[in-house]
Amino acid sequence: MRSISEYLSAYQSGTNSESVISSLVDRIQADQTNAFITAFDGTSLVEQARTIDARRAAGERLGVLAGIPVAIKDNLCMRDTRTTAGSKILDNFVAPYDATVVRKLKEADAILVGKTNLDEFAMGSSNENSAYGAVKNPQDLGRVPGGSSGGSAAAVGANLCAVALGSDTGGSIRQPAAFSGIVGLKPTYGRVSRFGLIAFASSLDQIGPMTHTVEDAARVLDVIAGPCEHDMTSMDVPTADWISAVQQGVQGLRVGVPTEYFATAGLDPEIEAAVRSTIDALEAAGARIVEVSLPHTEYAVGTYYLIATAEASSNLARFDGVRYGHRAEATELAELYEKSRSEGFGPEVKRRIMLGTYVLSAGFYDAYYGKAQQVRTLIRQDFENAFASVDVIVGPTTPSPAFALGAKTSDPLQMYLEDIFTISCNLAGLPGISVPCGTTSEGLPIGFQIQGPAFREDLVFRVAGAVERL
Ligand code: GLN
Repeated sequence: MRSISEYLSAYQSGTNSESVISSLVDRIQADQTNAFITAFDGTSLVEQARTIDARRAAGERLGVLAGIPVAIKDNLCMRDTRTTAGSKILDNFVAPYDATVVRKLKEADAILVGKTNLDEFAMGSSNENSAYGAVKNPQDLGRVPGGSSGGSAAAVGANLCAVALGSDTGGSIRQPAAFSGIVGLKPTYGRVSRFGLIAFASSLDQIGPMTHTVEDAARVLDVIAGPCEHDMTSMDVPTADWISAVQQGVQGLRVGVPTEYFATAGLDPEIEAAVRSTIDALEAAGARIVEVSLPHTEYAVGTYYLIATAEASSNLARFDGVRYGHRAEATELAELYEKSRSEGFGPEVKRRIMLGTYVLSAGFYDAYYGKAQQVRTLIRQDFENAFASVDVIVGPTTPSPAFALGAKTSDPLQMYLEDIFTISCNLAGLPGISVPCGTTSEGLPIGFQIQGPAFREDLVFRVAGAVERL
């Protein structure tokens, strides 16, 4: 069993959750990928499953995810549970409350199986920046699973859960989904409450599902979407029938293909071929293919690394050794801050705090941060112009397939270029999904990305469903 609908139909036809969850617990214990920072106690998971079985037997009305095993990225707070964000600085932090998404999953009767590994504070594209060890790609243990939601991708890819939640600031759901051969959705900014998500870059962060199927992504979005009084950027926008949209097909849809996405140096030829043949197949299925231009694409990575680091330097100021997590030995306050932060943060996080502090500093603010905000507007306008003539925009999720562990750790710039196709979507606040579209000659998964206008996840799901069926 993999997908939510497979679990649900097994439960409906009398299979008990207890046996399903107990074999899942065995699989989690045998995990080779290091997907979890905290795997929850197996006995208590089986007990929860037994309770679901009893409630089902008693004819009680159950939540829509009753008995479905779900994993949670470890930058999402879960009450009375260790929540590390992949950092040593939060090694001993126990969250006092549930993130809104966690509360909603609990209310839907999901069985939460553990907290997944990630790049420290979600900064990375390979999961190698975790203080809790690298994660291995579930399809090839010598390679990275992508990042920063690498543990979530591996947990789904290795079938240690039906669903995992991730967070996506510049590609952290879609890129690991592409590398690990699964589906990953970044919803529109404001669609899902960020309350209880440990902030990296607040104007870019968004929580979303990582799943085996497109339909599952729609099911989970249905559970976690909606406005929330604790997140003033969450919006009260009507939801659509996303589950039906997945089946609706692409007849008559206008599918935009940006010239810039195929003119990118470093785009792997096998990825290009797979993406192009998927586009041809969409055309054969009734879509109209339209060439579009997103002229500011080449500035997206630079813009992102100014804005995201600026916001991170501010968000991470709260980790001072006083209020949360690790506290160093010190005799006076400045020393306490300095030592706690020096000991607690890893090298990539320090690099970004320094970069972000620099771009916000008096004298450089206008030249870097201010300029980046202006370019961000141009990038957003590129999409607005394109969406005047197309319904969705498609292309590759990543320029290359999963790379070997250690291959890019010594070259941060090379690592940052991983995000070239995923970052604009965050800068513009749009929904984007990665769906598998074949494998390379070495058998590595390839991801196909679909981006839509704000709050048009329905269009994204229509195309994603079609790609999955092709
Ligand atoms: N890989 C990007 C980064 O390192 C994106 C991370 C993310 O989306 N959280 O910042």
